[in-house]
Amino acid sequence: MLRLKGIAAAPGIVIGPAYKLQREEWLIPKHGISESDIPIQIQIFEEALIKTRREILDLQKRISEEMGKDSAQIFEAHLLVLEDRMLIEEVISRLKSERLNVAYIFSIVLKKYIKVFSKIEDDYLKERTADINDVGKRVLRHLLGKEARARVLDNLEKKVVVVAHDLSPSETAMMHKENICGFVIEVGGKTSHTAIMAKSLEIPAVVGLFQATEKINNDDMLIVDGSLGLVIINPDESTLNSYRQEEDKLRDVVQKFLQVKDLPAVTPDNHRVSIVANIELPDEVPSVKLHGAEGIGLYRTEYFYMNREDLPSEEEHFQAYKSVAQSVSPYPVTIRTLDLGGDKFISQLEIPHEMSPFLGWRAIRFCLARPDIFKIQLRAILRASAYGKLRLMYPMISGIEELQQANQILEECKQELNERGIPFDKEIKVGAMIELPSAAMTADLLAKVADFFSIGTNDLVQYSLAVDRANERVAYLYEPAHPAMLRMIKNIIEAGHNNNIEVAMCGEMAGDAAMVLILLGLGLDEFSMPSLAIPQIKYIVRSLPFNEAVNIAHEALSLSTGKEVEIFSQSKLKEILSRID
Ligand code: PEP
Ligand code: MG
Repeated sequence: MLRLKGIAAAPGIVIGPAYKLQREEWLIPKHGISESDIPIQIQIFEEALIKTRREILDLQKRISEEMGKDSAQIFEAHLLVLEDRMLIEEVISRLKSERLNVAYIFSIVLKKYIKVFSKIEDDYLKERTADINDVGKRVLRHLLGKEARARVLDNLEKKVVVVAHDLSPSETAMMHKENICGFVIEVGGKTSHTAIMAKSLEIPAVVGLFQATEKINNDDMLIVDGSLGLVIINPDESTLNSYRQEEDKLRDVVQKFLQVKDLPAVTPDNHRVSIVANIELPDEVPSVKLHGAEGIGLYRTEYFYMNREDLPSEEEHFQAYKSVAQSVSPYPVTIRTLDLGGDKFISQLEIPHEMSPFLGWRAIRFCLARPDIFKIQLRAILRASAYGKLRLMYPMISGIEELQQANQILEECKQELNERGIPFDKEIKVGAMIELPSAAMTADLLAKVADFFSIGTNDLVQYSLAVDRANERVAYLYEPAHPAMLRMIKNIIEAGHNNNIEVAMCGEMAGDAAMVLILLGLGLDEFSMPSLAIPQIKYIVRSLPFNEAVNIAHEALSLSTGKEVEIFSQSKLKEILSRID
């Protein structure tokens, strides 16, 4: 038995066998295609074959120059695989008949070939298996695009805990819940988008666990405690039993919280706040409702652009937003416009590699530079606003100019819809995310232009404390409870209220039970969080008189370190939770 401590990323306890993802393993996206997509998919396939051929010829030339012609001979066999008519025709005919994306079809045909060749008795032909495998991987890499380092997880037959060096947010989004009951990842921090995605999928996760792939073997039995950031490898019987008891206890407490989930978020002395959900995918709406959210405070739309080969059309955006707006109605939905970059990328846009992506061409900066892409989304949001209560907000606003520029583009979109006679909510509220220190410090100015604020603490902490949110090595410095953060948040809330606008928070801090005590006392109006956290936070709000919260906030602001704030708020939380009967 071995205990490893990492960073708690997504809460819950799970017990299951390990499944290690090797770095070179790929997860192939599988999605349906329409008849009109077939020629495009065939073209993508042909281009991948051409690129692979060019790659092999280059390699052959280099090896031949460096090591002689004989050594380069092996590549002849590789080139032959690329020209195999049977393989190519099978891919194209299955693509047409099964109507699935070409990367997926190719991976299936490839697997079949490898299986057939590896069973052949003839030694020469048997050796061709390695050639097919090698060439096949090259073709797949081209089919999946440069960014995709996807892995093969589609053949899992039992529930497993996935153990990997890293997973991108788009890969995490692709994981099918039925087979994966936990994540253990070597890199990443509490608010890396991979961790956030695990929370949304309601899969317990530990990140930033150095050497996980070295210490854990396939099929090792693991206990993943996503709330404490603990992984226990091959636990003994008594540890297993105590964790099973812990699981039962946790279930009872959750049951208690769930009892209040449909009641309003109001303190015993009648201070009303709003508790809403963060989502990444429209599939999460049932969970939003199940956990008693009074709407959606952050819809991270960039996931809509991921795991596909083209950019979504205005109609696709519109249908997705409309369906979310309708199913959440009469509650409001706040749609955040595209926030790509940082640790979230998509292959279609070929965003250049940058030295500091979190400080680079990200979010609103990208959208203002690419109004062609931005306007498609804005028009779709406006159109969907006719079908429910929608608000929109921009990410990464650094100051008033960016907000005005974005609003100018929005005005153009409204004009275009007016000319087309398409209805939309003329009074749609437009907010700014406050997630840059420059925005926090000029909140008084921004409040004159924005209809509401939503504080993005995940980034605000990262930029204020100069701590990469996805880097496990500096995770100890990533402190939402830091006095600098509390002062900044207080300033933002006051600036909003002085200008009569609502102040929401959609960073992970808003769903952190201990921090909520302080945020409530600071006067935050809306708390937006992963659905799973909602019942507990509602329970706390309903148990804590507002004047008590104001005192807690006051005392927290007088403390001088993040640690002190953390210890103080945790002790207050314990006291409040001990009132549970
Ligand atoms: C944030 O930065 O707090 C936020 C909610 O946005 P994201 O986590 O998507 O960057
Ligand atoms: Mg952010």
